[in-house]
Amino acid sequence: MRKLCALLLLLLFWAQASAQKPTTDQTKTYGFVNGQWFDGKRFRRRIFYSVNGVLTQKKPRTVDDIVDLANGFVIPPFADAHTHNFDGLFNLERQINSYLRDGVFYAKVQTNTKSGASQSAAKVNVPTSVDVAYAHGALTASYGHGVEVYEGLAVLRKPGANTPAEVQQLRQSRLRENDAYYIIDTAEDLERKWSRILAAKPDFLKIYLLTSEEFERRRARTDTIGDRGLEPKLVPIIVAKARAAGLRVSAHVDTMTDYRIALAAGVDEMAHLPGYYVALDTGLEKVLLTEQDARETARRKVWVIPAPIAHGDWIGKAVRERSDDALRRNLKLLHANRARIAFGSDRYGSTPLDDVLHLHRLGVFTNLEMLKIWAEDTPQTIFLDRSIGHLREGYEASFLVLNGNPLTDFAQIKNIRLRFKQGTPIVLPVKTKP
Ligand SMILES: [Zn+2]
Repeated sequence: MRKLCALLLLLLFWAQASAQKPTTDQTKTYGFVNGQWFDGKRFRRRIFYSVNGVLTQKKPRTVDDIVDLANGFVIPPFADAHTHNFDGLFNLERQINSYLRDGVFYAKVQTNTKSGASQSAAKVNVPTSVDVAYAHGALTASYGHGVEVYEGLAVLRKPGANTPAEVQQLRQSRLRENDAYYIIDTAEDLERKWSRILAAKPDFLKIYLLTSEEFERRRARTDTIGDRGLEPKLVPIIVAKARAAGLRVSAHVDTMTDYRIALAAGVDEMAHLPGYYVALDTGLEKVLLTEQDARETARRKVWVIPAPIAHGDWIGKAVRERSDDALRRNLKLLHANRARIAFGSDRYGSTPLDDVLHLHRLGVFTNLEMLKIWAEDTPQTIFLDRSIGHLREGYEASFLVLNGNPLTDFAQIKNIRLRFKQGTPIVLPVKTKP
């Protein structure tokens, strides 16, 4: 214990000393002793080294620092496959610190303003911060979902309209067009705007589908905003263009009609699992997967992100129970068919910690499965080409050390003692009392 405290003091000193320079020295070589390392099934006693930010079990000629892990349980860092954080300087430091605190080192921003991402760029994707993949502007229809959120934030400082006058105000506003969203009503729109979409250099493409079974009826309305998505017949065209440009496609889906359109069009990822919010007047058949849907999802290797899960108390008991029921049934089907699942939050300002804990309480997955989905699988749908998600030879030296075993007590995922990212110790700001 004394050794560990000395180490933490050293790290704090090191952090203060290096606070001036934003880059970190990844050339420092560490040896990690007395740790129990997760190997995908269980924890094993191993000695690992970090050399140039990469894990190895081969002892290097010189080791700059030996870190005593004091029997801690070492796991890969967590990830958030659906967030809207890291979009601009507002609250950015706080978001980064809360992600690092919860051990969430990778995040996928499923729509943001390109201008906000440019402001955040210097503060993310460095060893001492969160690594972020951005969709930038999403593809939607005129007056479609996304427009009400971003025009609302720009004009009314809230994500949407509450009165008929506000609806008309947002329907006329175009402040965030080609920044947070692109209006695609026709194949010609897509052709015309495609080079602009690519010029923003998105890490992946985000598209919005929303209750597609009512698309025609909703498109005709002039008294609403945000209640529709892309015209279904455009979706396969968009996916084909994205493929040709080497971009993966993530789809916002609310109902099973949306889900099936996205699946048939060949998207790579469902940014939601239908049933994430089941209103009292929504029939369960609208949001429940069939065996065939689950099988097809697995066959096509499509990722599904059940987000959000932890809505908070505002949702009410009845909707909570309906949503939990739908979530449980859909996830069981997907899991039985071995579909790919990733965890996310989709709650602005939050990490997925509460969503993951809520999902754990639903009892669909074992502790081992929960850990593997969050620490091994979820990073894979954010950064496909990186050696992350496992504690193996040649993988990035990024890990969390827990005080207890999460396989026997899942709540130990909150009990993080030490954080390393790409061979760099992560030092959190000291929490001060309000
Ligand atoms: Zn979202």
